[in-house]
Amino acid sequence: MPGTTVKTEAVVLRSIRYGEADRILHLYSRTRGRIGAIAKGARKPKSRFGGRLEPFFRLDLVLHEGRGELLTVTSAATVDGYPRLRASGPALGAGARACDAVLRLLDSAEPNPPAYNLLCRYLALLDDPTAEGAAGLETAVSFRLKLALAAGFAPELAACAECGEGEHLSGFSGAAGGVVCAACEAGSFPLSEEAHRFMVEAIGSPLAEAPAADPRALQQAERAVGETLEHHAHVQLRAAA
Ligand SMILES: [Zn+2]
Repeated sequence: MPGTTVKTEAVVLRSIRYGEADRILHLYSRTRGRIGAIAKGARKPKSRFGGRLEPFFRLDLVLHEGRGELLTVTSAATVDGYPRLRASGPALGAGARACDAVLRLLDSAEPNPPAYNLLCRYLALLDDPTAEGAAGLETAVSFRLKLALAAGFAPELAACAECGEGEHLSGFSGAAGGVVCAACEAGSFPLSEEAHRFMVEAIGSPLAEAPAADPRALQQAERAVGETLEHHAHVQLRAAA
């Protein structure tokens, strides 16, 4: 509604310099899903926003909703700036790909608490010096699977997505949206048992406990979730590593 104040927590997915001193923000919020906002004067040396309107910052925001498409940032307080994530190349890369995936997959103004919480958990994990392998491909592919699930596009993993057969599941079809049996494998690519097991376990485990898998299985799992999202959500994700 125009002329109202919106309070929400949000993660900065993208921050773009705009005009002389402003920033345009792509935000993923806890209560309103995707938000586009403008922070006026954010690039002035003495801006009240300081340096906290950068990607990955998790913020408590007050926004003004006027008539335009963009909301205006009135105030921003840091919930978490993830400083250790920012100091690590691999963690920065993984965080950027995660934000990009959210940007592409979750573009509506509908709240999606599971997706929001998942993003915050991943950023916290990438910031945690004791979380070994957090920036690795296992966790990155697990994140994608869980994000697909949160967005309503989880691949079918329990039975053939074409005919319901429960055995001889040897392929994956993005068009069918899941694993397929030997009889239905037209249009599919081969999915190893290990890749299949990885996907089942990754969806069932906390993000911090992503299962191990060999690089080939991870590549297949990444392809499976990627092709599912291409066919059913019509989005293409960047490579996970
Ligand atoms: Zn089948």
